[in-house]
Amino acid sequence: MNTRRPITALDPDDVFARIRQKPIRWRDLATTRTTQRQLSPIIDSLLTSGAIKFVRLGGMRHLAVAGWHPSKEEELAEIYGRCRAVDGCMLWTGRIDRERGPAMYAAWGGTERSARRRVWGIRQRKLDRASTIAMTCANPDDCVLFEHMRRTNSGEKMKGKPKTLVHRAAIATAKRQCSGKLSQEKVDMILSSEKSTRCLARELDVSQATVQSVRSGDLWRNYRATPFTGLEAANDGERRRA
Ligand SMILES: [Zn+2]
Repeated sequence: MNTRRPITALDPDDVFARIRQKPIRWRDLATTRTTQRQLSPIIDSLLTSGAIKFVRLGGMRHLAVAGWHPSKEEELAEIYGRCRAVDGCMLWTGRIDRERGPAMYAAWGGTERSARRRVWGIRQRKLDRASTIAMTCANPDDCVLFEHMRRTNSGEKMKGKPKTLVHRAAIATAKRQCSGKLSQEKVDMILSSEKSTRCLARELDVSQATVQSVRSGDLWRNYRATPFTGLEAANDGERRRA
């Protein structure tokens, strides 16, 4: 007589149907050892075919259908789930970017983005690029609670603050685009030449003012070069008099 319990075979279609309903943890799909063993190849083939994917919800790995996207509530729960609640604030426990503040990789979105901008996007409409978020509470570094946010425009936030290297490089690029006739080769020639401004201007077919502003480092700064690029020209009295 066969005393073994009947084997409950896992049906791949059932598994997929449950995943399609809502994201589910691996262990909730199979509770017994036998079914767990059967589950592995089913999940493998679903993953390989691209029908399902892993997502991280509440810090735990879930299986979801490939096209799954969280609702706004789920998204917010995911963000606040990574916070500590302290004195009415929600303090971000993940990475804090020096410039953007709390930064997060979402389980459903590829790139790292500002957690605050995500929260803002969930609760309000989209935040345009010129606007930034300021915190009105006692934890401006790591709080991500929507109720403590205030929209500011970035000019207000940046006023008086030293500009970052990226910012300065962007300004330099913009200036360069305005200086149509100039190229890197011409700039190199201007910076290395001992000739007079007028002479160089004629030779390179640019204005004398352009030559002067390149020499003073005003027009063409190269932020990938050494910190002294441009300074040499400006401080070289001999050359300026020439
Ligand atoms: Zn707060």
